[in-house]
Amino acid sequence: MAKLKIALDGPAGSGKSTAAKRVAELLGYAYLDTGAMYRAAALAALRADVSLTDAAQAEAVVARSRIELRWTGGETRVWLDGEEVTAEIRRPEAAQAASYVSTIPGVRAILVARQREFAAAGGVVMEGRDIGTVVLPGADLKVFLTASAEIRARRRADELAARGVPIDFAEMKRDVVARDRRDAERAASPLAAAPDAIILDTTAMEAEEVARLIVLLAREKERKAEAR
Ligand code: C5P
Repeated sequence: MAKLKIALDGPAGSGKSTAAKRVAELLGYAYLDTGAMYRAAALAALRADVSLTDAAQAEAVVARSRIELRWTGGETRVWLDGEEVTAEIRRPEAAQAASYVSTIPGVRAILVARQREFAAAGGVVMEGRDIGTVVLPGADLKVFLTASAEIRARRRADELAARGVPIDFAEMKRDVVARDRRDAERAASPLAAAPDAIILDTTAMEAEEVARLIVLLAREKERKAEAR
């Protein structure tokens, strides 16, 4: 079968990660959570004590940091300069910090180059904010997931609660909305659906339904690619 490049984009809590992991599993594809790379980059900047809005310094820190991701079939494990930071990058502060460093074009350029390298051989599901628009504009299948702010905040809150991180729902919702606004309004690669993306509102959908639907679309593309 043809090995596709699948781009899954959307705001926080749109169901991207759950869908992307499941789709990769069902298709036997590799999976890359690009948000984890931005979170690790943000952590590197925080640890180096540079301002998250100082573009030159943040870029220099990210350029010399070693960020490693390993997809173990259940979760993406992440190492920063050899130290495992899997739990730390999932904290709400890391998410907010990521949405600041991700506005820096130099930081994006470093991470995008690594993401393209990962996808080069095909057979990948990549999730993020700019995969269909910037990282893999030639992706075989692009899906942009959305959902109401309420349900997105609820999903994020449930995710954190499952990890034992105490959260305040109202604060969570404010955070999610603020982060989406920064992601959508930034000048460099803003969160946006590619013109050729399929837009899927997951507000009333179960995660498994979302994944199955994407797999159906992917199978169709695989068949077409084979027939060519
Ligand atoms: O997907 P996740 O919520 O883990 O991403 C954390 C942050 O990283 C996002 O809010 C966004 O600012 C940034 N990001 C990005 N481009 C991507 C993936 C994530 O700017 N492709």
